[in-house]
Amino acid sequence: MKSLRIVRYLMTGSAQAVMVVSLVLACISPALAQQATPVPEAPSTVQADYVEPSSMQALKSGQKIADLYTRNTTEDYVLQRLSQRTYWFQRQFYTTIFYVGDEGVLLFDPLRSRGEFIQKAIASVTELPVRSIVYTHNHADHIGDAGVFLQAASKAGIELQIVASEATASKMDYLGSELPKPTDVVTWPRGSFKFESLIVDMHGFERGAHTDDHAIWQLASEKIVHLPDFINPDQPPFWRFAGSENFVYYQDNLDQLAKLNWTYLSGGHGNVGSHADVEFYQRFLTDLRLAVGKARGEVEWGAGIDASRTNAHTPFLPAWLDAVAKKATDSLRPKYGKFYGFEAATPANAKMVAKMMHSYK
Ligand SMILES: [Zn+2]
Repeated sequence: MKSLRIVRYLMTGSAQAVMVVSLVLACISPALAQQATPVPEAPSTVQADYVEPSSMQALKSGQKIADLYTRNTTEDYVLQRLSQRTYWFQRQFYTTIFYVGDEGVLLFDPLRSRGEFIQKAIASVTELPVRSIVYTHNHADHIGDAGVFLQAASKAGIELQIVASEATASKMDYLGSELPKPTDVVTWPRGSFKFESLIVDMHGFERGAHTDDHAIWQLASEKIVHLPDFINPDQPPFWRFAGSENFVYYQDNLDQLAKLNWTYLSGGHGNVGSHADVEFYQRFLTDLRLAVGKARGEVEWGAGIDASRTNAHTPFLPAWLDAVAKKATDSLRPKYGKFYGFEAATPANAKMVAKMMHSYK
């Protein structure tokens, strides 16, 4: 009705009508913004079979959780059973997993600001207390709520076991971490520990892209790997390859993950992962490297810089990397532009690839 009225006024062409149109537009614009249809969920990168989350029913191979972006913005948390004893937890885009033993619970990554919700989720499937936690790597956003579990354990008269790799434990010392210290240290770069009858193998990256203490934690008999901040399942690579400190070792790390025997990947963010997600990343990286390589040949050195207006060589490399990254992103958009977060992540990722190609021959 309102839009019809606007059109009719516009057709009259009188100054008065234009004024009325402006007034009407000013009045209805905020209302229109409020009534905007929500942006639909991005399509799956791996043609997932989407299902409703369930803390009872384990996911089948190829299944993922439906409407995950919306759930993260509207629900307290998402809890999904992966196997008889292992559960996947996500709140506000951060993921961890826990394993329910016969006498207690083993929790990976006590996520910062999410401890109480993790406790609620655990209590919804078992009355057993958390007896062990694992620091997968020394990043506070993933392990920052260790204190919540330490406190709960001490209240229950339990001595909480805190497991970390040698690399993580020594890095925490080196940086003067304020978080509770690990009580049990796993040999770097390969080691394992036992929680009741479960064996957890740690495969450290001798040269890590994300950090120098990054590792794959494998619950061997469960066929589950937990590797936060590397692959965001059901999405193209997140900004700067999930906050990687370099791209130099990213491909090697991905190949190492691909070779292990597992069914489910818990990536710290994103949906529940499978080998299809690794394969999608392999294809995306191939296309990204080709696009960046081509753009490097096409973008001239000095692009975007007016050489007559600078007295420093400093802006040339950043401007060239920006231009190469933009060109590469433009060329990938027709194939990948519809996927989750593509526009926000890809220029930064292309820039990391361009910088690596610039530095290594
Ligand atoms: Zn991290």
